[in-house]
Amino acid sequence: MRIWVYPGSFDPLTLGHEDIISRGAKLCDTLHIAVLNNDAKSPMFSVAERIDFITECTKDIPNVVVSSFDGLLVTYVKNINASAILRGIRSNNDFEYEHSMAQLNKKLDSNIETTLICANPIYQCISSSRVKEIAALGGDIEELVNKSIQKKIKKYFNRRTK
Ligand code: ADP
Repeated sequence: MRIWVYPGSFDPLTLGHEDIISRGAKLCDTLHIAVLNNDAKSPMFSVAERIDFITECTKDIPNVVVSSFDGLLVTYVKNINASAILRGIRSNNDFEYEHSMAQLNKKLDSNIETTLICANPIYQCISSSRVKEIAALGGDIEELVNKSIQKKIKKYFNRRTK
């Protein structure tokens, strides 16, 4: 049974994340999407909200499980008997960062592999921070996030500006 983990902030989930999830889910038996619970990053959406968004957008992928974690990623990976960490790369900067994290995680637990999937060019320019910036300014996020959560994100920003 190949269990993989796709960890991240997902604040919020974007179409780029979804593309990595659907491609990654084909490479393993179960893909755990693990939302990082780290207040130091001052997330805009709570872990519960982020889990709801991801659950909604991945409901048609049967082998996806959505959860959250805190502490060391390798500890979480080991606790759920996963064998690999999945991450996406959009640019050289992402590659530099993900490469060094992969090396470090390998040092922490030599049984855990990291798989890097190159971003789909049509989603390469998308990041959660850009989605938040655009939504906060009342811009159109239709090409950036799943239809099913656009309204919820827009509602969140409307609430804040009132
Ligand atoms: P983190 O704070 O852990 O980087 P993110 O939610 O920003 O969390 O990203 C999670 C993972 O998804 C990272 O590996 C990131 O490079 C990847 N990722 C983010 N946006 C995209 C995208 N548009 N296309 C492909 N991969 C992406």
